[in-house]
Amino acid sequence: MSAIDSLPPLREVIDTHQLLARKSLGQNFLLDLNLTSKIARQAGDLSECDVLEIGPGPGGLTRGLLAEGARRVLAVEKDSRCMPALAEIAGAYPGRLELINGDALDVDPLAHLTPPVRIAANLPYNVGTELLVRWLTPKDWPPFWQSLTLMFQREVAERIVAQPGTKAYGRLALLAQWRADAQIVLSLPPEAFSPPPKVHSAVVHLTALEQPRFPADAATLSRVVAAGFNQRRKMLRASLKSVAPGIEDHLKAAGIAPTERAEQVSLEEFCALARSIKPLD
Ligand code: SAM
Repeated sequence: MSAIDSLPPLREVIDTHQLLARKSLGQNFLLDLNLTSKIARQAGDLSECDVLEIGPGPGGLTRGLLAEGARRVLAVEKDSRCMPALAEIAGAYPGRLELINGDALDVDPLAHLTPPVRIAANLPYNVGTELLVRWLTPKDWPPFWQSLTLMFQREVAERIVAQPGTKAYGRLALLAQWRADAQIVLSLPPEAFSPPPKVHSAVVHLTALEQPRFPADAATLSRVVAAGFNQRRKMLRASLKSVAPGIEDHLKAAGIAPTERAEQVSLEEFCALARSIKPLD
């Protein structure tokens, strides 16, 4: 019998520890261990990796990650009620699960991790998006993580992988795709969770590129993209006016028609525009 089978079913764990789901913490738990193992498999080969898991809750995905062979898991959970249930999992996998009871937005996990690191999480959507943006915008690239396997609300997942010319295309797509390969790898209906959320969910897998897909100064690219999409219906010569003097010339130098709207402009073109405004050394 494998270790995952020696632990009680998740429903029992939730009853024993009285883990009534809290809305304020975005608690929609995954109780099907076949499903959590499937999500863990999407994270790639874990046997040589430390895995950072954010928001383990009662530990369904944690068990999946360990059962799929993660070298070590560091799990950061805000809700102290979950800690005894997680401690039982740590007991079943000696030396392989470290727990931190804290807010993932405040905790610095780096001191607890040995590279290579992969990140996996089923998080409340607001915290997930904020962490994703942080993980995609470190001071130095490549980042401390190799890949991110994250559950999002389906609509957010679609924004991460969106292509030009679609409604979902915007800042998140450009940020994610500039320095990572991003793919939706799994879609889940509300009934996969307990309690079921109102919306469908999807797992996005992002793999960090060694270098940005196209060269550009990060701050300039971010400024140009933010300005372009803040007024996405306007032509770029208007929406980017305040970004740099002579913006029409920069747009033309980047091969972008000044009458174009941000939604139509590819990542490669945005990077060319950023380089025209701020040439790289
Ligand atoms: N991973 C578990 C699963 O799949 O069943 C739980 C998922 S539930 C959607 C989100 C979890 O994130 C909850 O356990 C919640 O307490 C935790 N959480 C919410 N905000 C957090 C934060 N800022 N830092 C760490 N954990 C957080």
